[in-house]
Amino acid sequence: MYRISVDSSRCQGHARCMAFAPEAFDFDDEGYAFVPDGMAETAELSESIRRAEANCPERAVKIEEA
Ligand code: SF4
Repeated sequence: MYRISVDSSRCQGHARCMAFAPEAFDFDDEGYAFVPDGMAETAELSESIRRAEANCPERAVKIEEA
């Protein structure tokens, strides 16, 4: 199981994560990314989520093994 999250202290709101994995990210009213509850835990890590993590300029996308 993997847990996906966005470190809100790092996120700058460029939306690159959304470009790579629109199914896994959403944005709050201030334009910062978060992972909706239904997507925060997954048994399989999709290639799109791996790319979102790799392409976040702020290293704000976190993937942890749960
Ligand atoms: S790419 Fe990274 S810094 Fe930019 S909105 Fe997504 S999580 Fe935040």
